[in-house]
Amino acid sequence: MIIILRSDATKEQADSLLALIAEHGLKPLYMPGSERTVIGALGDERVLVPLELEALPFVERVLPVLSPYKLASREKRPGGSTVTVGGVPFGPGTFTIVAGPCAVESEAQIGEAARRVKAAGAHMLRGGAFKPRTSPYSFQGLEEEGLRLLAAAGREVGLPVVTEVMDIYDLELVARHADMLQVGARNMQDYRLLKELGKAGLPVLLKRGMSATYEELLLSAEYLLKEGNKQVVLCERGIKTFEHATRNTLDLNAVPYLQRQSHLPVIVDPSHGSGLRELVAPMAKAAAAAGADGVMVEVHPDPGHALSDGAQALGPDQFAELVGSLRDHAALEGRRLA
Ligand code: PEP
Ligand code: MN
Repeated sequence: MIIILRSDATKEQADSLLALIAEHGLKPLYMPGSERTVIGALGDERVLVPLELEALPFVERVLPVLSPYKLASREKRPGGSTVTVGGVPFGPGTFTIVAGPCAVESEAQIGEAARRVKAAGAHMLRGGAFKPRTSPYSFQGLEEEGLRLLAAAGREVGLPVVTEVMDIYDLELVARHADMLQVGARNMQDYRLLKELGKAGLPVLLKRGMSATYEELLLSAEYLLKEGNKQVVLCERGIKTFEHATRNTLDLNAVPYLQRQSHLPVIVDPSHGSGLRELVAPMAKAAAAAGADGVMVEVHPDPGHALSDGAQALGPDQFAELVGSLRDHAALEGRRLA
């Protein structure tokens, strides 16, 4: 950490800061200049973060040298990590396809979705039982019944399932039925939820908040890792921009950026990222070309009659065609389908 003192800082103030740094087990460096004094702190500077040194009246600026996310950082595992969910890997060398409807609507709907995505080559089944909807009048999900139907459909076809947990109070219930717990964009910064998920013992799919920076996403992942959960997969799902022709703007910069900064696998959700069925396949292929570790795609047996997000859902045949192209695109990036 580099700490720049104000021009009127006294030698006593500088000494007090040097002593504070040493007290915290770091090596203090004193660098008096002709106009400013600069103080260095060598070691794991994150122990100084709670002190909020920038609040000291004689400190002008604090410049961190290390990334604020220690456990999520790539330095921790330069080769990248693999997260395994019910035998399905997410990570280097593989490309993982998660597919299924936005929401579980009925036994017939999720059963058909499961059979069709499995036949097409999907590796995991998705489906929301607790749905975060903008309007309280929209379909909210089948809740516990939805969880049971999703788990049964996954079991029937042999696919592990991922579903969203919106609230800490539902965690135990959702964890009983899911192989992987999804944190939705709206809850990426629900830190109490993240802390509990860190202790839940199940892999987590952490979606990027719609207005969250990469650093904020990685710090949310850090909450999970800090509580002992090493099974974390990041998901880029589009951000809010001034462009309203699409539901969100899929930020594919996120893929190589996050992979450079972090060892955690990164997948892409082109369905929420675009909101438009026609854009889903091209953006899924673009995600593969960008080096993503996989995609999550919304697929509905009858998109025209979906209870949520029908406009962005692929039909089963469109999905099957997409899996074929993803195999080729992933191969170009040195990956095989998981
Ligand atoms: C979802 O994947 O079901 C979902 C609601 O996505 P997001 O949280 O990214 O909006
Ligand atoms: Mn959806």
